[in-house]
Amino acid sequence: MAYLDGGIPPVEEVRPGIWSIPVPMHGPLRYVYVYALVLDDGALLLDAGPGDDAAFSALEAGLATAGLSFDAIRGVLFTHGHLDHYGLAQRVKEASGAWTAMHEAEAIELDVRAYRDFGASLEGTLREFGVGDEERTAMMDVWSRTFASSRGFPPPDRFVGDGRRFDVAGGTLVAVLTPGHAPGHLCFVHEEAGVVFTGDHVLSLTTPNVGISPGSSGSPLADYMTALERVVPYGDLLGLPGHEDPMPVGPRALELLDHHEERLAEAASAIGDGHLTVRSVAERMTWTSPWSAYGPFDWMMAMREAYAHLIVLEARGTLTREHGHPHTWAHR
Ligand SMILES: [Zn+2]
Ligand SMILES: [Zn+2]
Repeated sequence: MAYLDGGIPPVEEVRPGIWSIPVPMHGPLRYVYVYALVLDDGALLLDAGPGDDAAFSALEAGLATAGLSFDAIRGVLFTHGHLDHYGLAQRVKEASGAWTAMHEAEAIELDVRAYRDFGASLEGTLREFGVGDEERTAMMDVWSRTFASSRGFPPPDRFVGDGRRFDVAGGTLVAVLTPGHAPGHLCFVHEEAGVVFTGDHVLSLTTPNVGISPGSSGSPLADYMTALERVVPYGDLLGLPGHEDPMPVGPRALELLDHHEERLAEAASAIGDGHLTVRSVAERMTWTSPWSAYGPFDWMMAMREAYAHLIVLEARGTLTREHGHPHTWAHR
């Protein structure tokens, strides 16, 4: 029931007192789930949706289906600060008077200056990747149009640390720090209800995007793989993701770990075949569409991802890097 026909799933009470409300968004994922958790005196939301009118209306209608309204919302917890999840934060806050909260490391996602600084360093990074002048100019243009210009949202009212607990209907919600897709990504576990809210950390069909971004550590893929191992022990608890379909969380996390081991092997073999720069390795790796069908945005995303894999191989001692112009990679 992946709704691949272009439809959007219905509003549903997935567990007593836990509602999933799909909200439309632009792009191939098509919708993002907002979850409403009933409290003794109202409800808590997990994520809010993208910041446009269509999303706001869908959320309002979804809350009504669940017998709720914005007045009932006491607080909004965010899995991470990406705009498909955080974009509506301010409007929901204004409509409800609720507090908003996410992990401290996600605040950078909203920070125009951090994005500008990252953009300033990006040009040099693309040179290190081996990207030629014309392609680099196109990528920098896409960067400033699609990323840097869309920041500047107000920060949340509160920060949520790893292990923080919240009382909800039928039990306790526990925050679990799972960086990688985003530096301060949180999953939320509700053991009594048998569910884990996985945000974009674990998705049922696609592999979440992982790569260098403002605020990411030196090795976002290493962080991501460690964070996948953190959710494997939840086994067959139902993963309720930010997009796509619910799935048993542990087995899917193991699949994603296997997937990245295969990608690591693919990147290593590209280096063995003489593809020595990030640009060239990325072009050689397998993506959902052929490289030639992509444009500057997708090439940039692919290179971030390829680079994240090379850093892990470097840390494992499989590869070494020559810090020339551009950086070149070789088997040790
Ligand atoms: Zn995301
Ligand atoms: Zn998302």
